[in-house]
Amino acid sequence: MRHRIAVVGSGPAGLSFARVMHRHGHRVTVLERDPAPDARPPGGTLDLHEGLGQLALDKAGLLAQFRALARPEGQAMRILDTDGTVLRDWRPHPDDRAHPEIDRGQLRDLLLGPLDVQWGREVTRVVPGTPDGVLVHCANGRQEAFDLVVGADGAWSRTRPAVSAVAPHYTGVTYVETSLDDVDARHPDLARLIGDGSLAVFGVNRALVAQRNSGGHVKVYAQLRAPLDRHAGPDPADTEAVRSSLLALFDGWAAPVLGLLRHGTAFVRRRLHTLPVSHTWAHVPGVTLLGDAAHLMPPLGAGANLAMLEGAELAECLAAGPGDPDKAVRAFEERMWERAGRWAEMTTAGLERLVGPDPAAALALFDELQPS
Ligand SMILES: Cc1cc2nc3c(=O)[nH]c(=O)nc-3n(C[C@H](O)[C@H](O)[C@H](O)COP(=O)(O)OP(=O)(O)OC[C@H]3O[C@@H](n4cnc5c(N)ncnc54)[C@H](O)[C@@H]3O)c2cc1C
Repeated sequence: MRHRIAVVGSGPAGLSFARVMHRHGHRVTVLERDPAPDARPPGGTLDLHEGLGQLALDKAGLLAQFRALARPEGQAMRILDTDGTVLRDWRPHPDDRAHPEIDRGQLRDLLLGPLDVQWGREVTRVVPGTPDGVLVHCANGRQEAFDLVVGADGAWSRTRPAVSAVAPHYTGVTYVETSLDDVDARHPDLARLIGDGSLAVFGVNRALVAQRNSGGHVKVYAQLRAPLDRHAGPDPADTEAVRSSLLALFDGWAAPVLGLLRHGTAFVRRRLHTLPVSHTWAHVPGVTLLGDAAHLMPPLGAGANLAMLEGAELAECLAAGPGDPDKAVRAFEERMWERAGRWAEMTTAGLERLVGPDPAAALALFDELQPS
């Protein structure tokens, strides 16, 4: 196979695609907007499921390395009532490999390995059907032609308009994210409260979730129903103003739980957007999408997993050659849409329950999903 192939974005989808292509001896141009791998904080922890993210790593030949880095104990889940009563305290068996956690930065470095990413290449537009092939325009005015462009450029994809006019819409749920550093030494009470994995507290239309990352780092998410209005609420840069407004919103919750907000460092607001459930498009020769670019859904533990598996599967379809690559992409798209549609439905319904009017519905969801 000697096709000019580019992937836009070096997130879980783009890197999984490029790495599996690399394993099969095919070169892919990886165009990434960030100027360097560590240009911004990589984000929190990811649980990689056996049949999804871990399968992708297996296809990339990286499963053993993943297991050496992953935290199986991070699968632990504790749920408290807003008054601090422990409602559930689930701990995995030491051999449980169903969905161990890994820091996003570790996963990125694992996938990057020998790949040659073109950093600082922000794609602005993708134009299929030109005499040279698919034209990729970049922010610096450069343009380059390819036979296949794979859009793995996330929620606000610049590749998506080449195949679909659909844009993400706001779910009505906002996450306000903060962090605790060196939690075991600096905040031992909170460290004990959180345990080895995640802690969740569900209230009426709001929730607090804390997730342990490696190295004593904890990410905390205050999850609320809130209007999209960009000017509503305090300036996110004013840490103390955001803290006060959150403490007011969660007023009455147990003091140890509120410690997660009292001791959090800077706050970042994330307004959750999604694409419509079962987003598909009429196939466009030479362009396809993966991951959030194709099916942005609520963050309930599936997005990165699907993104990785799709990247690995598309690479395998193309590497299987010598058939028509466009036919391989079409077949892949059908498979991706079917699977992603099911997950989008589940996670959309899940978000309604986790950040909704009835905390008992959130607890019931946990019971449905957790192995007994
Ligand atoms: C708070 C939170 C928690 C989550 N937790 C989990 C979890 O536990 N498990 C899970 O499976 N999923 C989780 N997700 C979802 C997961 O983060 C996403 O589904 C996943 O990152 C999607 O991967 P991706 O490669 O498609 O896109 P992204 O990770 O968004 O990567 C896109 C890449 O493209 C680059 N890019 C963007 N635009 C351009 C451009 N114009 N030109 C060039 N490059 C560009 C970006 O810089 C980025 O590197 C969570 C999401 C959130 C918000």
